Amino acid sequence: MTVETKVTEFANYINGEWVPASNGETFDIVNPANGQIAAKAAKSSLIEVEQVVKSARETYESGVWSNKSVVERSQVLLRFAAKIQEHANEIIYLEGISSGGTIRKLAGADIMQLAMTLKDTADYALKYEFVEPLPVVDYVGASRSEIVREPLGVVAAITPWNFPLILAMWKIAPALAMGNSIIVKPATNTPLGTLKLAELAIEAGLPPGVFNVITGPGGVVGEALVTHPQVDKVAFTGSTEVGKKIMSLAAGTIKKVTLELGGKSPSIVLPDVDFETAIPGILFGVFFHSGQVCESGTRLLVHDSIYEEVVEKLAAASSKIKLGNPMDPATGMGPVVSKHQMETILSYIKSGLDEGARLVCGGKRASGENLDEGYFIEPTIFADVTNDMKIAQEEIFGPVLSVIKYSTEEEAIAIANDTIYGLAAGVWSKDITKANQIAGKLKAGTVWINDWHAFRNDAPFGGYKQSGTGRELGKRMFDEYTETKHIHTSLASEIGQRKSFGLIF
Ligand code: NAD
Repeated sequence: MTVETKVTEFANYINGEWVPASNGETFDIVNPANGQIAAKAAKSSLIEVEQVVKSARETYESGVWSNKSVVERSQVLLRFAAKIQEHANEIIYLEGISSGGTIRKLAGADIMQLAMTLKDTADYALKYEFVEPLPVVDYVGASRSEIVREPLGVVAAITPWNFPLILAMWKIAPALAMGNSIIVKPATNTPLGTLKLAELAIEAGLPPGVFNVITGPGGVVGEALVTHPQVDKVAFTGSTEVGKKIMSLAAGTIKKVTLELGGKSPSIVLPDVDFETAIPGILFGVFFHSGQVCESGTRLLVHDSIYEEVVEKLAAASSKIKLGNPMDPATGMGPVVSKHQMETILSYIKSGLDEGARLVCGGKRASGENLDEGYFIEPTIFADVTNDMKIAQEEIFGPVLSVIKYSTEEEAIAIANDTIYGLAAGVWSKDITKANQIAGKLKAGTVWINDWHAFRNDAPFGGYKQSGTGRELGKRMFDEYTETKHIHTSLASEIGQRKSFGLIF
């Protein structure tokens, strides 16, 4: 069975209208499951960047959205969630033909999470402290003071290809809830679903111009948004390399920036581990979405007393993961996103072999029925990896697990923290007290004990060290999408009560 594709051209979505690139240029979107062109999208230039920023800015300043009450805005978010559920099949199709995500992931996780994020954000926004009155303090005299949170203005969201919709929604939902306008610049492999989201938001009652999508190369469109003086904030998810560039480019206008970047997350297996849950859990942690998850548990640290047993069990369980057409519900692992990504992963596998790691399973492009034309890589496990090897230090972003041996808990913690990244970490053990003690020593924004990829909307997500700055999700996410203003009103009616004026008079 092959995935059916139809080549359609997608324009930008600006001010509620479809706007092609003014020079008529497009780029191809390739279905990674079969290597065929699935669609084309507008290759925008600086002309469209100016147009989209102007539209977002004017809409923001008009107050048509920013001046609405939080109740009204929350109601639109709820209607937007309903629209996503109504149009789930179309969204799944658009994501499926471009990202290579399996139908099990798209239907079973993505759609539900998109709707839940909107619903939870709508709810948290109603409870957010937009105005916080401060207590009276002697040294400022009789006065009333309050801290007010106001929208930032225009937010630019720059998103990656691995979870194009969820990672866009983590920015869209809080930005809209707080009254901002937003421009999303999706990755060039996967803009289709995000364009659909913008259209659905308007159908749900969002005024045109509040949520816009512009497509095109990161080095042109992305950089122009990051340096644009009329953009107030950049919310970026992507590689650490591009994150560094964005941070330095944003300095020119002192733009607010949140960065969700790469990872090389360690997962520590203690000797008392429960194999029945840990083996499938570890593999889910690293092979879900073909390993293209920023917080994947890619470095597995196993106690020497159980090392070989764990390696054998992992290899045996890996052989049960079914690769195939992502739109087939029987498929557990689909292709990686592109030919380029496949080649990068294969070169990392070669470097593991060159550096002396022991290949336990996988290690090559997968072949067979429904696989030959697509960019599939076999689930790959390396044993005898040392933490200084390239495959243990660099983010591969593919289905490759590096298994490292340790003999003491202190050593495991030291290896776990010996990385430039700090996005996630994990511990597998029946001893919950010990696992929690270890969790406290791991330098990572999220620590999972006996689990992986367990997200919740009320828990902040983000990285220590070079995995990023700022947090998404959680009830404090709105702080990242608002400005803070202190308003002080003096209640001192007589000049004699104004002690501070006496400093000069
Ligand atoms: P990428 O950094 O190459 O691209 C991300 C986005 O940035 C794309 O939209 C791209 O067009 C744009 N971009 C590229 N160059 C730019 C520039 N100079 N200026 C502005 N924008 C630019 O990342 P990717 O390959 O799309 O995604 C994979 C990476 O994303 C991995 O490193 C992964 O770990 C990371 N990621 C992190 C998280 C997280 O939450 N921490 C989540 C998913 C992915």
